[in-house]
Amino acid sequence: MKINRLLFLSVLMLCLSVAVNAQFPRFKVLAFYSNRVEKDHVDFAKAAVFFFKDLTKGNGFVFDTTSNMADLNDEKLKDYSLVMMLNDFPHSPAQREAFQKYMENGGGWFGFHVAAYNDKNTKWPWLLDFLGGGVFYRNNWPPMPAKVTFDDLNHPVTKGLPETFISPINEWYQWKPSPREKKNIKVLVSLSPDNYPLGLKDIIPDGDLPVVWTNTDYRMIYVNMGHDENVFGDATQDKLIIAALRWVVATDKKGNVFEKK
Ligand code: ZN
Repeated sequence: MKINRLLFLSVLMLCLSVAVNAQFPRFKVLAFYSNRVEKDHVDFAKAAVFFFKDLTKGNGFVFDTTSNMADLNDEKLKDYSLVMMLNDFPHSPAQREAFQKYMENGGGWFGFHVAAYNDKNTKWPWLLDFLGGGVFYRNNWPPMPAKVTFDDLNHPVTKGLPETFISPINEWYQWKPSPREKKNIKVLVSLSPDNYPLGLKDIIPDGDLPVVWTNTDYRMIYVNMGHDENVFGDATQDKLIIAALRWVVATDKKGNVFEKK
């Protein structure tokens, strides 16, 4: 009798745990990348796909990838909680329009490194506003590690992280004007002035350099890391990247998939 009761309890516990797990719907991410860009940026995209796919193991979330920017259309995007831009950005008017519509209707965006690149030839005012108004100004070369500091350790993306750490090798971008000047931009991580002058060939001598930020009018996060495969493998930085993904997904207007119903 005792064994039967134990067996019954075990089965009951198993059923309950399956039922509890089933309450967390899987979310879907669509990552865009290009193979026809700077080699280091292609290397980053490959490493990123490996990194994020690894996070899906055990029947986790759906991480789809595409190198076809034409997939940026209403029909394709409708089921995705998050669009990731690994080393590219929308190009044609149709792609730009679909992306803007997706974001204005509550879509999620996680952009790395060159995803925020824009200059006088970009001619897309909406994107500039979305990113906080900063036009690409200058970069360091060669790519180098740098000390970064956290602006707010109470945000879900940064909670539990140290006040500062040495971020792995990256090409750091500086923007003009700094996105920090916009009221709807919340900067979470900045490059420490301790790094200046940063670079051996191309030098960033001074100035404000936000590294991770969000535009509070949208579900979005921008992370300047993303130059090559060195970006992954540092525990602090990996944790930051995972928290960024989780936060954008958690704020989906359909509900927080990480919370029990
Ligand atoms: Zn780069």
